[in-house]
Amino acid sequence: MPNTILIKNAIIVTLGEKNRVLRGYSILCEGGKITKIAKAQNFKGRYAKIVDARGKVAMPGFINSHMHFYSTFARGLGKAKPSKNFVEVLNNLWWRLDKKLTNADSYYSALIPLVDAVRKGTTTIIDHHASPFAVKGSLKAIETAVRETGLRACLCYELSDRDGKEIARAGLEENAGFIRYAAKKNDNFIKAMFGLHASFTLTNATLEEAAEMGLKLGAGFHIHTAESQSDQISCETHHKMRVVERLKEFSILGPKSIAAHCVHVNDAEIDILKETGTAVVHNPQSNANNSVGIADVVKMSARGVLVGLGTDAMTVNMLEEVRNGVWLQHLKHDPSQGFMEPAGALLVNNAKIANRYFTGLGELKEGFAADIILMDYFPPTPLDENNFYGHLVFGLSQSAVDTTIVAGRVLMEGKKLKLDIDEEEVSRKSCELSKKLWSRF
Ligand SMILES: [Zn+2]
Repeated sequence: MPNTILIKNAIIVTLGEKNRVLRGYSILCEGGKITKIAKAQNFKGRYAKIVDARGKVAMPGFINSHMHFYSTFARGLGKAKPSKNFVEVLNNLWWRLDKKLTNADSYYSALIPLVDAVRKGTTTIIDHHASPFAVKGSLKAIETAVRETGLRACLCYELSDRDGKEIARAGLEENAGFIRYAAKKNDNFIKAMFGLHASFTLTNATLEEAAEMGLKLGAGFHIHTAESQSDQISCETHHKMRVVERLKEFSILGPKSIAAHCVHVNDAEIDILKETGTAVVHNPQSNANNSVGIADVVKMSARGVLVGLGTDAMTVNMLEEVRNGVWLQHLKHDPSQGFMEPAGALLVNNAKIANRYFTGLGELKEGFAADIILMDYFPPTPLDENNFYGHLVFGLSQSAVDTTIVAGRVLMEGKKLKLDIDEEEVSRKSCELSKKLWSRF
């Protein structure tokens, strides 16, 4: 049958609400979806492609629930002044860099981590973009890069008032325009949210307008929330309330919205996040790097908040992120706590978050998307559905991703990219553009 892929001989880890570990089973993919998972002897047809995955674990591709492609050109920049706190990090680095981005820069800034994501088995990314002096068309520039790699992404523009009224207006329009465009396209590769920078860079008037536009379009909001204590101080000083309370007041929260970070939220705010069904996305490496603190993922999870995992542009490697998530929860609490929460955030909750926009991600199941990765792994100890998280964090995380498949399309096989992209040429062009950007920095 044309366009069919049969994956055989893998140890299959299905994930999903009820994780299963299957041996002696095969997976059939057809038309971008998984059409059959059954005992190997049940597959006697002719298939366009057969992948022998002996010595490998087959599992759903990873999902990154909070990312900033635009940060790529900061790598090696070295011109930013040393920063003593989070607001200085923004002022000295990110808000100087993003102001210089053109749409061509945004395209290459996305393409490079996207290619890396194929290598790391990260198949879906929820991004948050800023380029205040090149707002219009920036999301389509990123979309082009996403489509060239064959991955899935949910995009938004980081609206804020920090660069004045005109740029805020452009941010509102870029979000609304792209949400309409993605809805019209209605494919399972590109989705859109309404992006907001953070409470402390948004006036009441802009928040109100964003809420009205976003809600009318049926979109969720994606906003940095209490990432640093300074966000709370600003909110309490100017608005006499806490950040999460303010977002609730403007109807920014809800089951399609993402509150990234939530490092500094109190119990009342955690209750609001739970009641509104808002997803929180934890970014442990970024929080450590910016020295803003360690979000209490144990407490938020125990209180029923849906907590996912993102990289906040530190990498696109979800296995590195989950390990850091575990270490930091241990450091915050004690070694008996904080293992299941980061692991569950990556392996279960990220799929729940992504499936608020996409359909059928994060589980190997008939009818679900054929987003499958194969990782080299001969387990040294028994591996089953009950101890898979332990194998993932302490073993598989150190293994290589061998094969990445999205919607039944092989993007990498035998650790070799199968993309129609010349990486050397992309690097050459990206270096040329970033050098120019650095000269403007
Ligand atoms: Zn972020």
